[in-house]
Amino acid sequence: MTKSPPSSSGAAFDFPRARAALLKWFDANGRVFPWREDPTPYRVWISEIMLQQTTTQTVVGYFERFIRRFPDAAALARASEEETLKYWEGLGYYRRAKMLRAAAIEIAAKHNGAFPSDYASALALPGIGRYAAGAILSFGFDKRFPILEANTTRLHARLLGLRAETTLAESQRVLWQFAEDWLPRESARREPNVYRKLNGALTDLGRLVCSPDEPNCGACPLANWCEAERLGLQAVTPVLKKKADPIRRTDAALWISRADLPGAALVAETPGAAKRTDARQTDVLLVRRPQGALWAGLWDFPRFPVAEPFANAHELSRDAALADYLQYFLETEAGAPGRDYRAGAVLTTVRHAVTKYRVALRVARLAGAAPAANRAPSLFDALESEPAPPVLARSAAQGPEVARPREVPRQGDKLRWVPLESLESLPLSSPGRRVARFIAGAVGK
Ligand code: SF4
Repeated sequence: MTKSPPSSSGAAFDFPRARAALLKWFDANGRVFPWREDPTPYRVWISEIMLQQTTTQTVVGYFERFIRRFPDAAALARASEEETLKYWEGLGYYRRAKMLRAAAIEIAAKHNGAFPSDYASALALPGIGRYAAGAILSFGFDKRFPILEANTTRLHARLLGLRAETTLAESQRVLWQFAEDWLPRESARREPNVYRKLNGALTDLGRLVCSPDEPNCGACPLANWCEAERLGLQAVTPVLKKKADPIRRTDAALWISRADLPGAALVAETPGAAKRTDARQTDVLLVRRPQGALWAGLWDFPRFPVAEPFANAHELSRDAALADYLQYFLETEAGAPGRDYRAGAVLTTVRHAVTKYRVALRVARLAGAAPAANRAPSLFDALESEPAPPVLARSAAQGPEVARPREVPRQGDKLRWVPLESLESLPLSSPGRRVARFIAGAVGK
C-alpha cells in the first residue's frame, strides 16, 4: 500500500480517489502537444530539453522544425554544432543544444542510436539531470519515475500545505517523495500509460488550474485533498526563494562594414561567399562567441560594455572606455592597426534580458579616423605606459605591443566578414539577430 505523505493536518492523503479524480480531469482537460501525440523516447527527450526554461507555446514550432531536420539521434549526432545551434536559435540557453548534440553522439556510439531505457544510463548522458531522466522515462517509456518541475512543485507544495522554502533540502526530499507516491507501484498498476498520464496530469493541473497568483480552486479536482485550500494558504505557499533584482546595464553593438575597416588581417572570409568587390564592401564583421561566454558558439556583432548612466544615447562616441575596448579589439583581434576608430551615433537600441541583466544595447556604426589630437584622453592612453601581458603573437608588420584595457571582454574565437544576404543562415544570438534585422532594414536587404 502507498505510504501517505506528511501534511499539516496529519490526515492521510487518499491517493486512490485523488488519482481517479485527477485522471478524469486530465481526460477532459489535458493539453495536446506533438510530443504527447507520438511520445517516442527521442521525441520526448527533445521536447523535455527544449521545455527547460522555455514555454510550451514557444517550443511547439521549434520542436516540429527540429524533428523534421533531425528525426532521430543518429541524424542529430551527424550534424555540426553550428547547424544544431541554427535550429535552436531564439530558444535561448544554448548550452542545452550543445548538450543535446553531445548526448546524441553518445547515444549513437553506445546505445545503437536508441535513447536508453534505464535510469542510470539516461542520467549519465550529457544534459540529463534527475528531472529530465524521470520525465523521459515516464513520458517516453511509461516507467514509474516521478518528476518535479515548477508546476508540480507549486501543486505539491499546496496540496501538502508546505510552508518551508521549496528549494531547501528537506522540502525537496518531501516533494520528491510525494511526487513518487502519486505513482502506483507496478504491482498495483491496472492500466497501460498510467505513469505518463499521471505525470502529465499533475503537470497540467499545476499549469492550468493551480496557477501561481490565482489558483482556480473551485475548478480543481484535488480541492478535497488540498491543505492550502483547507487552510487558506494559497497566497503563502509555495514559499519560493527570492529572486535577486535584475541589474540594468548598457552595451554597445558595433556595425562594422568591410568598407569601414580595410586591411583587417585577422578577419576570415565567409566560405563560398560571392567575391564581387562592390558587394564585399557591405560585408559586416561578425564574431563567434567564445567558449565560456554568453551565447558561446553563436555569432554576434562585436559588443562592449558602456559606462552608466548614459544620459544621451547620441553621446556613445564620447565614451572613453568604449573607445579603448574598441581600439583594443580592432587592433588585437581583427588585426586592424590604427588608433582613431570610435563608435558613431546610436542608430537604434535593442532592449533584452539575459541572466540577471536587463540590457539596453545601443547599435552604432564604426566611425573612423578622427584625428587623435581631437580625442579626449582615455583609459587606453593611460594604460599605454603600464606593462601588460601580450595577448596575441604579433608580426613585425603589426607594430608595437598594445596594452590591454582592464576588463576588456574577449569578443570571439573567430571573426568573419559576412555578406548581408548570409546573415539569416548563421546562428546568431537573439539580440544579434535583432541587430541583423535592423541592418538589413537600414540597407534595404
Ligand atoms: S485546491 Fe487550489 S491550491 Fe489546492 S491544488 Fe487545487 S488549485 Fe491548487
